[in-house]
Amino acid sequence: MTTSLLRVPPPQGLLRPLAVPERLLLGPGPSNVPPRILAAGGQQLLGHMHPEVLQVMDEIKAGIQYAFQTQNQLTLAISGTGHCAMEAALLNLLEHGDTALVAISGIWGQRAADIARRLGSNVHELLKPPGEYFAPWDIEEGLVQHKPSVLFITHGESSTGVLQPLEGLGELCHRHGCLLLVDAVASLGGAPIFMDQQEIDVLYSGSQKVLNAPPGSAPISFSERARSSSSLELCFTREKMLRRKTKPPSFYLDMGWLANYWGCDGEPRRYHHTAPINSFFSLREGLAMLVELGLESSWERHQANCAQLCQGLHDLGLELFVKEEKARLPTITTVRVPEGYDWKEITAFLMDNHAIEIAGGLGPSVGKVLRIGLMGCNSTSGNVDCVLRALRDALGCCHRSRL
Ligand code: PMP
Repeated sequence: MTTSLLRVPPPQGLLRPLAVPERLLLGPGPSNVPPRILAAGGQQLLGHMHPEVLQVMDEIKAGIQYAFQTQNQLTLAISGTGHCAMEAALLNLLEHGDTALVAISGIWGQRAADIARRLGSNVHELLKPPGEYFAPWDIEEGLVQHKPSVLFITHGESSTGVLQPLEGLGELCHRHGCLLLVDAVASLGGAPIFMDQQEIDVLYSGSQKVLNAPPGSAPISFSERARSSSSLELCFTREKMLRRKTKPPSFYLDMGWLANYWGCDGEPRRYHHTAPINSFFSLREGLAMLVELGLESSWERHQANCAQLCQGLHDLGLELFVKEEKARLPTITTVRVPEGYDWKEITAFLMDNHAIEIAGGLGPSVGKVLRIGLMGCNSTSGNVDCVLRALRDALGCCHRSRL
């Protein structure tokens, strides 16, 4: 009898079938994936350099150009989640010693500042309390004082439920010799954004919110100005005119390599990494559904369902966290945790009794708010009714906190 060489036994969990319960995902993301997108992601694999996959990548690029309202050549999907796109944006734009101005009114500014510091940048923070947004004069003050080369700002602050107005910011940044970098992970497709008209230099998003695809691919686009004022120019032309003194510190996220892989530099495409092909199939379908619906209809739908939700929350006696109606993010609504309740009990009650996910706060809004997301196919009047019914039930049943 042979004695086994194995010291680690087969894990019992893996010998059981995968179990995925049905849930209505009304948190800040991911949102539910409709059957058409699930089917696309479940297709058989092709090689990552096969012409059919390259064609899908071209279609994704065109879909992102539409969703972002941009003609930028350097438009593609990062193989990673929203954080990956955030890192890609910052590490291609910033070098050791560069100055970055980061507008912080929630967790995403905090994260961007952290990443920029890791890159050795000189980071200055512009602060607003959670629930508020920046006015152009706040930004201008920071630009004048710190003379940054990049300004980071979040369009849809999913931790606080605020929609940051972007009008005039691009022009303002450019007047001060600064690039405008915008995070639209939580807002894209749910609230208007016009990359070219608003003079945004770098814009990124995610796949798992309004686009209703699984997490794992992140749309991103760089303006000509961003391209030529960073190392990207070198990568595009492969000339020796280095504006950057150093290469971007990540090979995986080097936009020069990615530009080539995505066919943005006019050169034959070279292998850079094995693309998450099935994620790309899913993202392609998510973008196709947005194109079929049309951006304007999508914006209107998110606005209308958000308004219905806000009215319903108000009728339940709950207080919306964002006071100003026009500053409310149409994709994610924040409501104050009602006096005397434990937010964890409420979210657990909805999950256990209604199979609905909503979330508590994040970063500076932890313990203060509940977050309800209505994104893409989840943004329906029926889902608003569902979550309001479940909340009414929770308010009736959850024990008053003894804390
Ligand atoms: N930015 C914003 C505004 C977000 O809402 C999120 C995701 N909640 C991210 C960035 C990070 O995206 P991911 O979780 O896909 O890495």
